[in-house]
Amino acid sequence: MIIDGKKTAAKLRDEIKKKISDLKSSFNSVPGLTVILVGEDPASKIYVKNKEKFSKEVGMNSEVIRYPKNIEEKVILDKIVELNKNQKVSGILVQLPLPKHIDKRKVIETIIPSKDVDGFHPVNVGNLSSGYESSVPCTPLGCFLLLKEVEKNLSGKHAVVIGRSNLNGKPMAQLLLRENCTVTITHSKTKDLKAECSKADIIIAAVGKPKLVKGDWVKKHAIVIDVGINKTESGIVGDVDFEEVSKMAKAITPVPGGVGPMTIACLLKNTVECFKRANS
Ligand code: NAP
Repeated sequence: MIIDGKKTAAKLRDEIKKKISDLKSSFNSVPGLTVILVGEDPASKIYVKNKEKFSKEVGMNSEVIRYPKNIEEKVILDKIVELNKNQKVSGILVQLPLPKHIDKRKVIETIIPSKDVDGFHPVNVGNLSSGYESSVPCTPLGCFLLLKEVEKNLSGKHAVVIGRSNLNGKPMAQLLLRENCTVTITHSKTKDLKAECSKADIIIAAVGKPKLVKGDWVKKHAIVIDVGINKTESGIVGDVDFEEVSKMAKAITPVPGGVGPMTIACLLKNTVECFKRANS
């Protein structure tokens, strides 16, 4: 089975659109997402454009604040403080990466946790690992929803997460643990990655190495979720060798068209959740 991220993301956006219309009737207001973009990074500009497009499409208030690359850190921090107080803003996202002179940590920690739609604030990270309600980083949340499309009950499954970034690997592992998976987190210092993967019922690859995971690493009928986006001479490929692994796996996400489309849909989902919590 090829897991169709585009289709699942479109379904999720439809659900969000319906939810926003219901919220509008109940509260006479709709969720608002504000994105701050600093500089001219081409990939960031595309991501932000898509975030704006889809948030408008589902009926949210959407705003993008653009700053030049050389903007002072204080200007951004002051803007975040202002947005924290603005009741029309349900979610704030600062597009990463930021220019080197801006302290990413300071920026993330200035966003009030209740509006942190990226789930990067330490309070949200702590809440997720403690099993409390929190915003969950969008890409791992997207992976998780795709997994649930294939397998409703993940309890007792052995999941191997490749990569331990704050963005992907660590929150992914927390989500799987919350579902009672037995979780192994692997990284660049793992001694025998192939041996670890070959024991897995579920593999999540979030590495950034083209086609790292091979067919003979994967147990028959495993579920494989490929987070990787790698530019190669032959185009965009994932961290999984799709040709080989798709012959072994029960279900697998393609790249592109797998996890990618879910990330923005989950951002919209997080924004709605923030709005609901603020109004409850
Ligand atoms: P990252 O911060 O660079 O983290 C990569 C992780 O992979 C690190 O934990 C690293 O280990 C580990 N690693 C590197 N080489 C390895 C190896 N040979 N064997 C095992 N582990 C290895 O990357 P990231 O931000 O998590 O992103 C991962 C990939 O996902 C990238 O391709 C990125 O473009 C993609 N991505 C996709 C989406 C989407 O929407 N689909 C969103 C975000 C990112 P150490 O910790 O030991 O260094």
